Amino acid sequence: MLIQAFKKYFFSELSILYPETEIQSFFTILVEFKLHLSRIQLALEHNFELDNDDLDFLKNALSKLKNQIPIQYIVGETTFYGLLFKVDKNVLIPRPETEELVEWIVQNHKKDEFIKILDVGTGSGCIAISLAKNLPNAEVSTIDISAEALNVAKNNANFNKVKVNFINTDILTLEKLENDFDIIVSNPPYVRELEKAQMQQNVLCNEPPIALFVENENPLLFYDKIAELAKRHLTKNGVLYFEINQYLGLETVELLKSKGFKHIELKKDIYGLDRMVKCFL
Ligand code: GLN
Repeated sequence: MLIQAFKKYFFSELSILYPETEIQSFFTILVEFKLHLSRIQLALEHNFELDNDDLDFLKNALSKLKNQIPIQYIVGETTFYGLLFKVDKNVLIPRPETEELVEWIVQNHKKDEFIKILDVGTGSGCIAISLAKNLPNAEVSTIDISAEALNVAKNNANFNKVKVNFINTDILTLEKLENDFDIIVSNPPYVRELEKAQMQQNVLCNEPPIALFVENENPLLFYDKIAELAKRHLTKNGVLYFEINQYLGLETVELLKSKGFKHIELKKDIYGLDRMVKCFL
């Protein structure tokens, strides 16, 4: 089958489910992944003939897209902060807002600083690994409750050629940390059950709930616990960074204030939503 013919079929099958720009982006990602053809090459090679193996792959991907499976899980990878990360259903797909958090941290620290960093709830390892890559003298440790997620993160650290320490534990039950840290960062679960109604079906049905959701009554429990640990384990000029729920900016700031944190800075993401916090002891 000619690729152009398949493309037509692909678009017509998905057009009731996704906007056209998104279908185009799926197609580009799949073709780049499997055939190693860029969008431009593809436009030039109308007569590219798909062999059976390519066709099977594309048909299979199409049926997964129809079932709302995220494209990143279908190809098993995504880019984050310019790096490639393997992802599967055990980890959250790295989000652009988290890239903004990493950018904030990288901008705030000198590239050659010898510092210790802890990332709590690392998932795919996207925060820890991109910090290790961009702050090459930093010693980076991560914690996650999920052994499966840590396996994904370990592979990503190897793949991106950085050394990261991995600790498999439940942060909520930890009384103390093994070390003191100059940076503690976390993008913990923060979506309240009541916000589920506004979320996309493909997020709800595919991504690990343990990485996303918290109870309506106690949505800041991870922030509370991590801030407590940070009070004991941040170094003198240490900084605590969080990604936060866009609706809970003020509550998060109040919580940190009540624990004695200073110079608390609330920062918006590119959509103008409260998305990050930085503070000092
Ligand atoms: N920003 C993510 C989302 O809205 C949530 C990430 C998290 O819970 N830490 O899907």
